[in-house]
Amino acid sequence: MGEQVLRKGGQVMGDLKIAKWLNSGIAFLDKDLQLTLHNDLAGSLLDVSAGVGHPLPLRQCLQEDREEYRWLANMVGHRLEYRNAVLTWTMGHGIRHVLIDSYCREGAQGFTGMFVLMKDLGDFSMLEQQMQRTEKLATIGKIAAGIAHEIRNPLTTVRGLLQMLEHRYASQNVIEQREYVQVMLQEIDRVNDLVSELLLLAKPHRMCKVPSSIQQLVEELRPLVESEALLRKIEVRWHLLETPLVWADAGMMKQVVLNLVKNAMEAMEDGGVLTVSLDVDGGTVRLEVADTGPGIPYYQMDKIFDAFFTTKEKGTGLGLPICQRIISEHKGEIRVSSKGFGTTFSILLPKLLPEFAQEENTNCL
Ligand code: ADP
Ligand code: MG
Repeated sequence: MGEQVLRKGGQVMGDLKIAKWLNSGIAFLDKDLQLTLHNDLAGSLLDVSAGVGHPLPLRQCLQEDREEYRWLANMVGHRLEYRNAVLTWTMGHGIRHVLIDSYCREGAQGFTGMFVLMKDLGDFSMLEQQMQRTEKLATIGKIAAGIAHEIRNPLTTVRGLLQMLEHRYASQNVIEQREYVQVMLQEIDRVNDLVSELLLLAKPHRMCKVPSSIQQLVEELRPLVESEALLRKIEVRWHLLETPLVWADAGMMKQVVLNLVKNAMEAMEDGGVLTVSLDVDGGTVRLEVADTGPGIPYYQMDKIFDAFFTTKEKGTGLGLPICQRIISEHKGEIRVSSKGFGTTFSILLPKLLPEFAQEENTNCL
């Protein structure tokens, strides 16, 4: 319905007196990036204080380095008509989830700009998504744990026998057969890796959490990340501030960072910039892995944490669910923001309070 009204004869939204009664923010952004708010709600959702009905350059309303600015400019630049795009915008110190529809406006001279309809989702969508994910993961975890062992045991036997064969062929100098066996071993290793990932998804309770420095743990990964980046023509920028300790299993946490870095690098097929930052915000330690890849389309945003969801030919779709599982075991949060100009994954972990530093050491054998 909204779409028809908005597009009718290319009428300017100022005609729509009803705009001020709507429970949605409405704004128009013309092709020269002049922004006109059509109701107060639009101003509040965009965090813009311009008056209603007065066109203003977008850069006067929002700083050009803000994500909202870039997202809106890109939308108009590419004439992207969104439906139910869920965006997470940072407002001051808070975060706001906004549901967005956008519509091209065609005048006599062709494309003139875009209408943007915005609805505030508060924090509910995030909470609901997280609950659904956690439930799903618990179920998948149980299934995976059962199957993974059944697969791993026979694989170990087959691998052992193949290794014996390989040695035999090597000593007899039977080149062709030896090569076949080597391929078989490689394939078995791939299945084994997959099984290990499944087990990781299923059994994060093997974790050994101790007071840990995330900064130190990231530093330890630096050489590995940098050598891989070099091969892929990716520039790595590190912004690592000293942060308070957190309760963490260093091995698991490294796995999370590596999974995120691997995804970031895989997203930048033609090179780009990988930024790893670490800082602290009140009681939370925040680790961010950002890339300059193509970003994640909004319609895939709610799927990327699903087990087995992958857009890669050789992907397993287990990297992010594993990260999610590990982080939730650390009472932390994982967030993603991607607006078509790269992607940023943020890990938020509660800092360790001194009074709990001696707390029971969970499952650490
Ligand atoms: P996999 O890497 O095996 O595909 P993941 O769970 O790690 O599985 O990621 C799931 C999907 O999420 C990827 O296939 C990709 O579509 C998307 N994704 C994850 N990270 C990024 C990123 N940094 N940039 C773009 N897409 C990403
Ligand atoms: Mg991955």
